[in-house]
Amino acid sequence: MLNQSLKFPKADILVIDDTPENLNLLSAMLTEQGYKVRSVTKGSTGLRGANAVPPDLILLDVNMPEMNGYEVCQNLKANDRTREIPVIFISALGDVLDKIKAFAVGGVDYITKPFQLEEVLARIENHLTIRQLQQQLQAQNQQLQQEIHDRTKAEEKFAKVFRSSPNPIAIATVSEARFLDANPSFLRISGYSLEEVIGHTATELDFGKNTVAFAQKIQLLPKTGSLYNQEFEFSTKCGEVKTILISIELIDLAGVPCALLIANDITERKRLENEFISLVSHELRTPLTSTMGALDLLGAGQLGTLTAQGQKVLSIATTNTERLMRLVNDILDLERMKSGKIFMRRAKCNVAELLITATEAMQAMADKLQVQLIVNPLTIEFWADSDRLLQTLTNLLSNAIKFSEPGDRVWISAILSESKTVDSQENQNSLTSSPNYVLITIQDEGRGIPEDKLQIIFERFQQVDASDSRNKGGTGLGLAICRNIVQQHNGKIWVQSILGEGSTFYVLLPLTS
Ligand code: ADP
Repeated sequence: MLNQSLKFPKADILVIDDTPENLNLLSAMLTEQGYKVRSVTKGSTGLRGANAVPPDLILLDVNMPEMNGYEVCQNLKANDRTREIPVIFISALGDVLDKIKAFAVGGVDYITKPFQLEEVLARIENHLTIRQLQQQLQAQNQQLQQEIHDRTKAEEKFAKVFRSSPNPIAIATVSEARFLDANPSFLRISGYSLEEVIGHTATELDFGKNTVAFAQKIQLLPKTGSLYNQEFEFSTKCGEVKTILISIELIDLAGVPCALLIANDITERKRLENEFISLVSHELRTPLTSTMGALDLLGAGQLGTLTAQGQKVLSIATTNTERLMRLVNDILDLERMKSGKIFMRRAKCNVAELLITATEAMQAMADKLQVQLIVNPLTIEFWADSDRLLQTLTNLLSNAIKFSEPGDRVWISAILSESKTVDSQENQNSLTSSPNYVLITIQDEGRGIPEDKLQIIFERFQQVDASDSRNKGGTGLGLAICRNIVQQHNGKIWVQSILGEGSTFYVLLPLTS
């Protein structure tokens, strides 16, 4: 037991006392209790020893020649290495212990003779415990300081990245899609100040016609997961329309689900791309028209009779040239619509007539692919550009036939509807101004569309399968044109589909606008 306590003493105690009996007595008593004891008879030796190897506690005699206990204590407290060591004063019988002075110079307690073993041990243990707790507290404090320091540094780093990012970044709540913060890039591109942005939604800030869909994307984030590079158009404070690619990530800020929005301004790239497409299309149209003319001449036999092989090659050339012509015309059409160069010429027209005319126009194609067309007309008049709507309906019918199998059926129907009762995938609040709508549906039993493509197919050049244009002769522009026409009628177009079972395209149009 003794050996064990010598190997692992409870604590290291330095006793400074010029009376050898005292020293011996205390030393024996404490060693017996398992403490490591160092004893010295002079204050100066005690100071040196404490400085060389600081003990856990010092028992210090008040009355000593050369340097008395108070002075020794003052010296200990003046030294960084020994300042924190608890000092208990010892006063011999007959000594006058100035208690106030003892505490004033930094003592923590005092013991007077004759020594009571239990009392001495209790006081020593008390102060060792206090010292130990103090040391623990200091260590924890230091660790805490370090953590605060590291965290502040990390926050500073991220704040710097957030503030100086060339990409517009904002944070919004998921619940209401309200902005909580925005970086200088975001403010620069939007034209708003931080005060104007914080606490507001994109709709309140009038970020343009896509704000409702934008808010929905944020609110549905916990369900849908992160979004990458979604194209959005938004209006700046001064009304300029910008095109941005936006990525949205769900983050947790102090327990509040938030959306981290990182944008990329592609307005200029988009403008150049459009300019390029429109330029190329214009340049292509003239030679294409002349090629078509030449092919017509060849086909009509005006330049001599073609062999059977020649006829076959001519037919392939004609099909491909027609496809190219269609593509060029679609690009130019869409381009003109987007730049507002095409106006809808609205007049009174009949829904039933439109549906029947569209069906008749597509009958030959349906017969060829052995698809049955079923029309359920609705006799009601409304204001619309009938040519443009016919273009929309024939395109939707053409897709429905194209993506069906022989023997399948395609229905085109119309019913009167109130926008609020319609199960639109997009937000319907923007359509609540007039309650009277006609809802045209084109339903097929074809191959269907995967869920993740239901929205994207309305963007230009977006096809479910890259081989669709080759195999089905499409351009990937039809639905983009349809959406443009419907939007110019203040309407909405969307699709619902089940893979392998078929698709239903909905066109919701106001009766008056
Ligand atoms: P395309 O000229 O290729 O038909 P659209 O813009 O009209 O271009 O359609 C885009 C794509 O949407 C199509 O290529 C096809 O992948 C998909 N799609 C459109 N309508 C249907 C439909 N009724 N059934 C299945 N897929 C369809």
